[in-house]
Amino acid sequence: MTDFRTGNGYDVHALREGLPLFLGGVRIEGSPIGCVAHSDGDVAIHALCDALLGSLALGDIGRHFPDTSDEYKGIDSKILLARVMELVRAGGYELSNADITIALQKPKLAPYIELMREALAKTMGVEVGRVAVKATTTERLGFVGRGEGCEVWASCLVYREK
Ligand code: MG
Repeated sequence: MTDFRTGNGYDVHALREGLPLFLGGVRIEGSPIGCVAHSDGDVAIHALCDALLGSLALGDIGRHFPDTSDEYKGIDSKILLARVMELVRAGGYELSNADITIALQKPKLAPYIELMREALAKTMGVEVGRVAVKATTTERLGFVGRGEGCEVWASCLVYREK
């Protein structure tokens, strides 16, 4: 008997010139814009954390890592993801797969997709084949299209043998 649970997560950060851009655990080199945030602003990891927390009904990332706490100021979001995976495993569950979609007008993320998959898989302690990362623009529509923000959706499936 296997118990399956799914989760979904969503996050948005505003973009500003002159900040480093971190996505999916990877620094996007040479990006003229980065996310405005209390942490390193890795909006993809934040959405993934919320998906994982959601799968076990453990609340959201803001509850676990409040952005009012100095402990999380400028923190590498991979540390948050690793802690969230510890919570998932403490609940007796293992990750089956995670799927992430990043909406960003520019820069192009294609050269970074595999690096993100590897970084996320390593951080979560799973095989890279269990992690998908996709990127899209919004055809210049909306706040993403105007380059004002980055939007990410994540979903996951976790399982427990019982
Ligand atoms: Mg966030």
